[in-house]
Parts: sequence; C-alpha cells; structure tokens
Amino acid sequence: MVPHGGQVKAINAIGSGVFVVLITAANGWGKTYWGANVVANICCASKNPAFKKFKTFTDWPFPKLGRLVSSPDNISDVGAVTKALEYWLPGEPGNGWSRNKGNKSFYSNYKFVTGHSFKVLSVEQEKKEFESDTLGWAWFDEPPLHEQYIATVWRMRKGGIIFITATPLSGCAWMKDEIADKADGIKTFWIEGDIEDNCIEHGVNGYLKHSDIERMSERCDEDERAARMHGKFMYLSGLVFKTFNRKAHVINQEEIKEYWPEAVFGEFDRWPSVNICDPHDRRSDVHIWAKITPDNNLIIYDEYPDWNFSEEKSRKHTIKQTVEILHQKESGQTVKEVCVLLRGPQAIVRRIMDKRKGAQMQSGSGLTTFDLYQHAGSEKGWSYAYEESPKVGLKNIDHKVVKEYLAWDKNLPYSIRNKPKLFVLKDCTNTIYDFEHYLWDDFVGKAVDSHDKKEVPKDKAKDHMDCMRWLCELRLDFKDYKNQMLPRDKYRRETFNSHRNIINRQEEDGWML
Ligand SMILES: [Zn+2]
Repeated sequence: MVPHGGQVKAINAIGSGVFVVLITAANGWGKTYWGANVVANICCASKNPAFKKFKTFTDWPFPKLGRLVSSPDNISDVGAVTKALEYWLPGEPGNGWSRNKGNKSFYSNYKFVTGHSFKVLSVEQEKKEFESDTLGWAWFDEPPLHEQYIATVWRMRKGGIIFITATPLSGCAWMKDEIADKADGIKTFWIEGDIEDNCIEHGVNGYLKHSDIERMSERCDEDERAARMHGKFMYLSGLVFKTFNRKAHVINQEEIKEYWPEAVFGEFDRWPSVNICDPHDRRSDVHIWAKITPDNNLIIYDEYPDWNFSEEKSRKHTIKQTVEILHQKESGQTVKEVCVLLRGPQAIVRRIMDKRKGAQMQSGSGLTTFDLYQHAGSEKGWSYAYEESPKVGLKNIDHKVVKEYLAWDKNLPYSIRNKPKLFVLKDCTNTIYDFEHYLWDDFVGKAVDSHDKKEVPKDKAKDHMDCMRWLCELRLDFKDYKNQMLPRDKYRRETFNSHRNIINRQEEDGWML
C-alpha cells in the first residue's frame, strides 16, 4: 500500500517506538486497512518502504505474540477486518501463514512462519479473557472498554506497542482523558484522522475525490459529523454546557482582583457565601461554595471532595466527619493556598441540599440526610440546617439559567464590562471536570454500541452540575444579604484601603476569545 499523509504519520509513530498510538479516524480514512498493514508488516518480513526504514518492523524487538480486538461484525468471516487481513497478509492461508477458529465462531488464531502469531478477541468478550498472555503488540480496531484497554496494557510487561484506530463516537470519553489529553508524542501519540487526509486534491497520496467527500459530509448526521468526517471526539458535541470555556470561566485570584478591585484580603471573605450540597449514599456528598459578588456574579471558590471525585468508588467520610471538614473550611482553618483572598471565616448565608435525596431516610438511623447534617452541626454548636433545593425543570431540559450565568456578549471583547456572571476558581477541579464532561441524557442514550452505555452512565459528571442548577436558580442578590456579612474589622479596613490604591492603577485590558 502507498499510505496517505496521515497514515504515514501514524506508521512513523509506531516505528519510532511509541507505546500507545491512538488514531481517532474519520470514516473513509482507511483505518482498518492501515491497521491490517501494520499487522502484516510486524508479522511478515516487511518489504514496504514506508515500514522497512524502521528497525521495529525489520527486527521486531518485543514478544512475537499479538492481539487484535474488534467488533463481532468486523471479525466475522466476511467482516472488514478479516477481509483486510486476507488482502494484506502476503501469500494465502497455508502458505506463509495459517489460521483457525479454535472454539470461536470467528478466526481467533493466526500463525506465521516467521514465528509471529496473534489472537483475535471481540470487544464483547469478558474482561478476564483480556488478562492472559504476554503480548508484543495489540490493535484495537474499535474503541475498547477502559478495563479491556488496561488489562491489555498489563500484558505488555516485556514492552510492546498498542495501537487504537477508532471513529470517536460516544463511549470514548475515557480515551480522550487518558490517552489523547496526555499524548506527549514520546510514550503516547494521538492524531485526528481527518477525511481530507485521504483526499486526492487536498491530502498526500489520498485516493478519494473531494466531491465524494463533500457528498459524504452532506449526508452525515449533524451531531456525528465532527467524528465521522474529522476524527474529532464526538462526546464533546453532546456536552450540556458547550459555552463553558476555561479561558472565560475559570479564574485565579489575580483575575478576581482585576474584575472586582474591592475584592481584597479581608473583604472577599466578607462577601456572602452559599453552600450547595448534593448528597449520596455510597459516594461522598458533593459540596460547592459560591461567593455572591456586589454586582451579583457568582464565584465557585471551594468544593468538597477535593480529591478526584470522578474516580471515587466509595465515600471517605461519614456525615459527621464531613460536617467537621465543612466547618474547618468555612471557619478559615483550612484555607486554599491558591487564593490568598480566602483567609478568614466565610459568611455562609444560605445552605441548599437536593430536596429529594435530602429527605430520604438513612438506613438504621430513622433520620433523613437533612436531620443528620443538622444534628452533626448542632452537637458542636454549628448551624448545618439545609434548605430544600429550589424547584427546577426536568433534569437535562432546564439548564437555561446556568447558561444565562455562563453567557457574555461574544461579539465584543471580553473585558471587565463584558464577562460571564459565573466563575470557577481554578483549583475547583471537580467542578471544572463536570462542566467539561456533563452530557445530554438523550445523547448518551444514542450510544452506538451496547458497551458504550456501560461506559458513559447518564449520571456521569452530574453532581456538581446539579449543584450549579440549584445555585443559579436561586438568582441571588448581593443586597439581600448585606446585613449578614461579617463585620469589617479595623485590620480588614486598613488592608482594604491600601489594596484599593494599587488596584485602581491597573488597566482594563480587553481580550478576545
Ligand atoms: Zn479535499
């Protein structure tokens, strides 16, 4: 084969010894032919100049046992993968190589006179079947489940290469987080295989006519076009809050001081804070804290848990312990180092908890979650009485109010006068994660394969976003809480005045996103 420009890049990555090569490829990019070619050049003495220049292919340095994983359709006798292998493996079965089905309905073992062999697995096989053999290479022709991928990584104890070719429709979120976002070009390599790589007019050595590509694009489902035409991760197009943008909504303390010159040490602490809680049984209760600014913007400035919540399996603290931690945070005993503006006690003016979950009886205690929080607080003389979350529209239908807070006029430069009304302090990483991973329910339901549904539960990344809906739905007004603010002490006033003089001199630089 004469590989096109995109395929050459991916061959070079394998040749140079990258451990994981991910190609998120458009339909028509030639991913299956590319993969079958790589397999042929590993298992048979390579003659193709695009491969032959790498020692990896002429003198394979890893175990000579490989693994090929694809969908049951693709590996059936007439499937695309089987056909591509028959086309590209030199010679015929029985001449240079052989294959058998073993106890499977598809050809599951391939053997070569060169001493190489590989086994074929279906993505529908159980995880334990991915946990045997010491492998030198693995090709996933379909997005594997995360656990299948990890099990395969562990089979490479003597070194090897994993290559994944997948059209990144739904169910691929983990590949973006774990492979694409971490691709450094040395251990991990990722390319987006755009259909134009394979265009006669616009690619290098492409073999599709541009007019045919355009016709494919027109027929393509709007939601799937990014994945099917450009190899872009599709789950991004199913995000609920597409307008969330780190550059606009994630801020640090310098930006806080720039946007609100009055937010200085001492003063920022005094601004009214709101605590929102989404309680759980098995996993940790989620809490966020937001400041109401004098111009009625919201700044998410703290969160609990402050470990990676998306990977948490079971809760770390009882409600009693959780309340202790909340109190430490709110009384300024454990302050965030990233924000020196947060130093002292915070004035918590409202506490809101999911009304459905909050009212649920906790097994054994005869008490609701509302009760348990309140009791744990009052034992210590603290107030942890929560109000019920406001009535909002159906989940995933009414996010309008959050979107209003996220919005700003994009036709004008982003500036102090033209900015969103909702911000997240940059180390509230769980909140940011949820903004960037929260998907539409119906979108998740559209998953193409049944195993996708397991991969992206519809409730993924939902917790902080529920808190966000309740928070925004309150439509908080600074002046309603002015009299609940902490007193301004002498020390605070002095630092306030000295900071104000410095900040008044700062320029208002507008910038475009
Ligand atoms: Zn073209």
